[in-house]
Amino acid sequence: MHIDIVTCLPRLIESPFSDSILKRAQAKGLVEVNIIDLRDYATDKHKSVDDYAYGGGAGMVMMIEPIDRCLEDLKSKRHYDDIIYMSPDGERFSQSLANQLSLKKNLVLLCGHYKGVDERVRQHLITGEISIGDYVLSGGELAAAVVADAVVRLIPGVLSDETSALSDSFQDDLIAPPVYTRPAEYKGWRVPDVLMSGHEKKIDEWRHEKSLERTRSRRPDLLGEV
Ligand code: SAH
Repeated sequence: MHIDIVTCLPRLIESPFSDSILKRAQAKGLVEVNIIDLRDYATDKHKSVDDYAYGGGAGMVMMIEPIDRCLEDLKSKRHYDDIIYMSPDGERFSQSLANQLSLKKNLVLLCGHYKGVDERVRQHLITGEISIGDYVLSGGELAAAVVADAVVRLIPGVLSDETSALSDSFQDDLIAPPVYTRPAEYKGWRVPDVLMSGHEKKIDEWRHEKSLERTRSRRPDLLGEV
């Protein structure tokens, strides 16, 4: 899989990809993440990517030309399954959307800043829009990092134990069961005996029961119970 993240502030998004699981996924060659500086496609010597809004009002707007030049350049090198603009009014991101995206080969995530991008970018240059929730961030970089992280960890081979992604919350419309590690007792707080019994079937049953219990109390909507 290949993900291009287009941003006018590359430093804002570098660190999530230089550590831990996302770093290892790239090192293993399972995913290639490119961070592309929109300013490289600016047309003036100041490397401007934004300008005042037509009609007035506070806040700058990202210009169409550098974005178009950048996307044209990217598209000349590979075919993209999706060119996604990160936007608070886009399709709400979810585990199921992450699952769908993890099957794609080439993706662009376009990060807005300031007041967002010129509307013509949204009308003519992209294929989809994703929001990570009903709140406004100052830029699309953190949102793009969220999406890329959720997607990349689903690519087979990225997590050392592949079943681990499948047993996460939301994968089967259930919340994950509680997990414990050593010590077995801390300040009198004990790990449930069944987890130390070595009895696989009983452990599976316990986990399923806890998942259901937790889903019922925290997210009954996932079970269609609201
Ligand atoms: N004026 C816009 C918000 C601009 S925020 C509005 O009211 O809708 C600046 C940029 O941050 C956006 O272009 C988008 O790329 C990103 N962004 C902000 N909130 C986001 C969210 N919830 N999900 C995804 N991207 C978001």
